Amino acid sequence: MSKVYNWQLGRQMEYPHEEAHPQSQFTFVFNINRCIGCQTCTMACKSTWTFSRGQEQMWWNNVETKPYGGYPQSWDVKLLALLEEANAGGQVWNAGSTGQDEADAGPYGVFDGQTIFEAKNPLKDVAQSRVLGYLPSDDEWRAPNIYEDTAAGQGWRPGEYGKTASLPEHDVWFFYLQRICNHCTYPGCLAACPRGAIYKRPEDGVVLIDQSRCRGYRKCVEACPYKKSFYRPTTRVSEKCIACYPRLEGRDADITPDGEPIETRCMSACVGKIRLQGMVETERDGSWVEDPSNPLYFLIREEQVALPLYPQFGTEPNGYYIPPRWVPRPYLEQMFGPGVEQAIERYVCPSRRLLAVLQLFRATRPIIFRFEIIEGEKVHEREVTLPSGESKTLEIFNDTVIGYGRSDREIVRTTVEEPTFERPAQHPNSI
Ligand code: SF4
Ligand code: SF4
Repeated sequence: MSKVYNWQLGRQMEYPHEEAHPQSQFTFVFNINRCIGCQTCTMACKSTWTFSRGQEQMWWNNVETKPYGGYPQSWDVKLLALLEEANAGGQVWNAGSTGQDEADAGPYGVFDGQTIFEAKNPLKDVAQSRVLGYLPSDDEWRAPNIYEDTAAGQGWRPGEYGKTASLPEHDVWFFYLQRICNHCTYPGCLAACPRGAIYKRPEDGVVLIDQSRCRGYRKCVEACPYKKSFYRPTTRVSEKCIACYPRLEGRDADITPDGEPIETRCMSACVGKIRLQGMVETERDGSWVEDPSNPLYFLIREEQVALPLYPQFGTEPNGYYIPPRWVPRPYLEQMFGPGVEQAIERYVCPSRRLLAVLQLFRATRPIIFRFEIIEGEKVHEREVTLPSGESKTLEIFNDTVIGYGRSDREIVRTTVEEPTFERPAQHPNSI
């Protein structure tokens, strides 16, 4: 085991390989608050990559209903239980037990518990596996959105619909969790592969399985805590999300003859406009190059409005989520770590800059590498009650936000207020 630094945990952790980082990293933000569960993303991915024999249960993108749903069924509950079993009562943040100097802590503080690389597997001999995990049974893969739209909570009675639906937290709640491979900085799949068949590309951090080296041992399926590596029985090798790398490289000539990198299929297809994908530049030690004009850097590191999914697993996932504001906080904190309350407060009453950047979600297909804001006039003002009960004034300005592609060419321009056009009464289609 080597010592590597995981900034999401605010500390060093054990990992089976030496620390190494790509020049830039495939990264994305999903805004859970806006997802309508339409599964357009799911089908965009399936119809592109996993429509063949042996891929029936392969959903590289899936959208599941929380808290009961999951693909495979109960994937996160099972892993959390394994970690708890291995380190009973110790899976906590900011308890001070690691002796970590607070000055070196990450943006969410310090995780004092054990990651999947550090915990001893209670189910088996440690020597057999480098990573804590489990292999789902066949029936756990049978439904990609089991318990669709099934709500949790108390306080609901027939005839009392809506009674408890008042912010900041609903008594009865569910939400959609959008999931793809996180192209992790410290992938569990890669760590567990005995064939060395899984690698992380140095140019963009995309994690791939070399199909010619894979022998189908399924160690990656067992070790990926997000269960995003899949076994294909017809070819007897494993497959996973490839981050639509031909699009990422700007090599899809039909779509971008100018060679401009474009977002993946699932991102481009998103009807709810909840997805934003990009690249962040990284230093040799894995830290992110400070760049507040990169929309991903801005949302994740500067505003900290988007948080990693189960950072305590330890893989440093590169997918980030704006948490749903109506969901009980303990549930969200277990899922996204201690930054939840701050992220929701910032989303509920966004800064002028954040409101402008939120308009970039699904505004265009090419990847936005940089943005600029041109200030517009003030169009609205109102008092907002934050989840803490504190009151704050929200001012809305009709700013224009401009996105630039890799070649620094303008690729999108949009405003905070959607432009409206009133047709003249004599228009032939007027009624
Ligand atoms: S999400 Fe799973 S499959 Fe994807 S890189 Fe991380 S560990 Fe590997
Ligand atoms: S396409 Fe967008 S809105 Fe629809 S389910 Fe997927 S992430 Fe949600």
